[in-house]
Amino acid sequence: MLWMVDLKHLFTCTFWLISKAEEKKSKPSCVYRGFFFFFSSTEKGRSCGSPLLPDMGGHRDAKVVIIGCGIAGIAAAQKLVKAGFHHVRILEATGRSGGRIKTGRIGDKIVEIGANWIHGPCEENPVFCLARQYGLLDPEALKPENQALDVGGHLPWVPRFFSSSGRELNAEDILPAQKLFLELINESSDFQSQRGEPWPSVGDFLRAQVQQHAAEKWKDVDEATRSLRLCVISNMLKVECCVNGTHTMDEVSMGAFGVYKTLPGLDCTFPGGYEGLTQNLMAELPAGLVTYNKPVRCVNWTSAKSAETVMVECDDGQKLVADHVIVTVPLGYLKKHHSTMFHPPLPLHKLHSVQRLGFGTNNKIFVEFDSPWWDADCEVIFFVWEDEDAVVDQVPDVQSSWIKKLFGFTVLKPTERYGHLLCGWISGHESEYMETLSEQQVTDAITQLIRRFTGNPIITPRRILRSQWFHDPWTCGSYSNLGKGCSEQDLDNLMEPLPPKGSKSQPLQVLFAGEATHHCYFSTVHGAVLTGWREADRLISHYSLITPSEFPKSKF
Ligand SMILES: Cc1cc2nc3c(=O)[nH]c(=O)nc-3n(C[C@H](O)[C@H](O)[C@H](O)COP(=O)(O)OP(=O)(O)OC[C@H]3O[C@@H](n4cnc5c(N)ncnc54)[C@H](O)[C@@H]3O)c2cc1C
Repeated sequence: MLWMVDLKHLFTCTFWLISKAEEKKSKPSCVYRGFFFFFSSTEKGRSCGSPLLPDMGGHRDAKVVIIGCGIAGIAAAQKLVKAGFHHVRILEATGRSGGRIKTGRIGDKIVEIGANWIHGPCEENPVFCLARQYGLLDPEALKPENQALDVGGHLPWVPRFFSSSGRELNAEDILPAQKLFLELINESSDFQSQRGEPWPSVGDFLRAQVQQHAAEKWKDVDEATRSLRLCVISNMLKVECCVNGTHTMDEVSMGAFGVYKTLPGLDCTFPGGYEGLTQNLMAELPAGLVTYNKPVRCVNWTSAKSAETVMVECDDGQKLVADHVIVTVPLGYLKKHHSTMFHPPLPLHKLHSVQRLGFGTNNKIFVEFDSPWWDADCEVIFFVWEDEDAVVDQVPDVQSSWIKKLFGFTVLKPTERYGHLLCGWISGHESEYMETLSEQQVTDAITQLIRRFTGNPIITPRRILRSQWFHDPWTCGSYSNLGKGCSEQDLDNLMEPLPPKGSKSQPLQVLFAGEATHHCYFSTVHGAVLTGWREADRLISHYSLITPSEFPKSKF
């Protein structure tokens, strides 16, 4: 997930203190991952110390093919190589490593097209530990206080709210709406621990509760103020869509919303770019381990007892035989290509989980200006549409009003590093449509939007740069979420190796890693790293348990 700042950052200090006090009273255990909310972890991640090298033999000859050179594939290879596996190969469809970790430039400024933050930088976060080890972080991020920070203890981000009638909104007028939204989103996470699913989706729950609250608690508030508060909630729903990588919160499971866990620590970035992480990891792998521009078309595994190896077919017709294949392609790619990618097809329970789990689009639009039109202390800018009091997170007509889905901008800081640079956030089908427009069309839409909301008719961006994750053929979207009807079982099914449990054929022919296969850190870089290590460990322990006579006789 994204792409995330903590919502607490966005609020004024006053609001933050109120919500903190109330949270203590009512919700001590809530854990919520969000663009702008952040609570402490209830799950301990694995330590990121060096992997142990078990004493074993057969693993040296085992042939392992890893499909995909994103962070999950790199992490799996790193661990296998360190454990003494001599025949590890990564096949990558594109000409680069990193996948959804992708650093770009707008002018001479470094920006992240994909992953942005280390979420929860603390000792349990492998990305933080690796980044620290490689010297990739600012001194501020390394401070123990920074790692220990939970909801409290640091300065909140400074927000500004503009409305579609071209005026700046007073933060105090908006406070009740923010407070309500925060409470309800926390409640949404709680349903998981209660094992109940009284509402089909988070969106259904939020909308019903907000409307009930408005009718009961805001009944004495004047009509215009009540309407504005509901419009603010629509804006916050759009933020949620970006956080969750979904078109609408109506598609996100209520019962499983609390499955995602956060780690403590104040989110931080890589001053030199996230790709520094993948580059450092790649430098530790043997030269030639990755074959680029090598898309895999099909993985031929077998449920028959006699066959012992897996055959990987590439787009260029090359066939590779392996003892084990670790598939790390994004869930979006799997959804689109599962029927041709596996032979025999995925077992039904696994296929249904691939279909049920959500994978949506969240894109960034970087916009650079010659001079700022926002205050020096401003860190996030929200655009509230005054005709959205129906509590909506989708636009009525994507082609004509896609831009309404963009909830606003984060301000890239520090200014000395980024100049006057904003990052707009847009999710869903509106975001996917935006990808099809020319850069000029996007620039025009952004310019009009900013002029309208600020009431300043001369603001003109210098240039823009946007991501296009939905149309990336090897990703097909941004990241995963737990879609309507999902449960933790779907994550278990997705990560289960082939052949499935109970089969008598050669075990661990196909293993599955990648962010969408983590049981509580899905949608993140640290989740992806842990899944790569998890599948490497699965093979390591497999070979440490079997006897030499059982070692595969590979035909690689
Ligand atoms: C806009 C955006 C913002 C984000 N922000 C954050 C953030 O701030 N913090 C955070 O923790 N996470 C964030 N994420 C999520 C994070 O980037 C991912 O969870 C993580 O990078 C996924 O790593 P992965 O290895 O699982 O998948 P990927 O990085 O997608 O790697 C999969 C690889 O498989 C390759 N591939 C696909 N098909 C084939 C094929 N047929 N044959 C061979 N190779 C193939 C792809 O080219 C790719 O290189 C963000 C993602 C996006 C899109």
